[in-house]
Amino acid sequence: MLEVNGVDGFYGNSQALFGVSLQVAKGEAVGLLGRNGMGKTTTVRAIMNLLTVNSGSLAFHGRTIRGLPTFRIAQLGIGLVPEGRQIFPNLTVLENLTATARAPSKTSGLKPWTLDHIFQVFPILGHRRRHMGNQLSGGEQQMLAIGRALLTNPDLLILDEATEGLAPLVRTEIWKCLGQLKDHGHSILIIDKNIQALTDVADRHYILEKGRVVWTGSSNELVADSLLRLQHLGV
Ligand code: ATP
Repeated sequence: MLEVNGVDGFYGNSQALFGVSLQVAKGEAVGLLGRNGMGKTTTVRAIMNLLTVNSGSLAFHGRTIRGLPTFRIAQLGIGLVPEGRQIFPNLTVLENLTATARAPSKTSGLKPWTLDHIFQVFPILGHRRRHMGNQLSGGEQQMLAIGRALLTNPDLLILDEATEGLAPLVRTEIWKCLGQLKDHGHSILIIDKNIQALTDVADRHYILEKGRVVWTGSSNELVADSLLRLQHLGV
């Protein structure tokens, strides 16, 4: 589904990604790990063409996405929950959810997400549907960001630190939702610091260090290898 091969990424003259390759197959949940500043968000930016990519290839559903405008990449079926949420503060919850909503692609084979479905998964959003984005708590904003991405009916959902800084109960709610997405056949690329929750949900992982993929393997391999976790993740 998503094929990233040998990508070099730059902020101006400063190289941040060095030959990064990763794949996400249909129905797979994949973790992207690494300590702070190692290139996780930058990899997501490269996928969404928010960064200069000088070499390598990026393909989604077998067609190249390198160089396409970000909105086109989103329209092709990649839903992003960006770091820092980035919801629309001056729109209501309902407007935030519907502003970018789309029908699923014909090939996805997934049940379409609807507003009612989002309100079932995150009931608080239903109760607050007329509140402005900036009147929500951090946890509610995060749920809104996830709900908004789901309503674009993406073939691939990318979450960049979606549980960062949230209360434990809200985190549990979000991980439960991600587990359900995976069970229903969604493809997900997840960046998160909570290794335990991530290895419960994801099938495989990539570890980044200084802009390079230094390890890839299954959740079982990651759980079993305490030296690897200590060396590359500091946990
Ligand atoms: P974190 O967990 O802190 O979000 P990360 O793994 O997502 O870390 P990135 O944000 O991708 O890391 O950063 C990778 C490298 O790129 C770092 O060295 C960082 O300083 C650099 N970098 C990030 N954003 C920019 C930018 N806008 N301009 C220049 N360099 C940047």
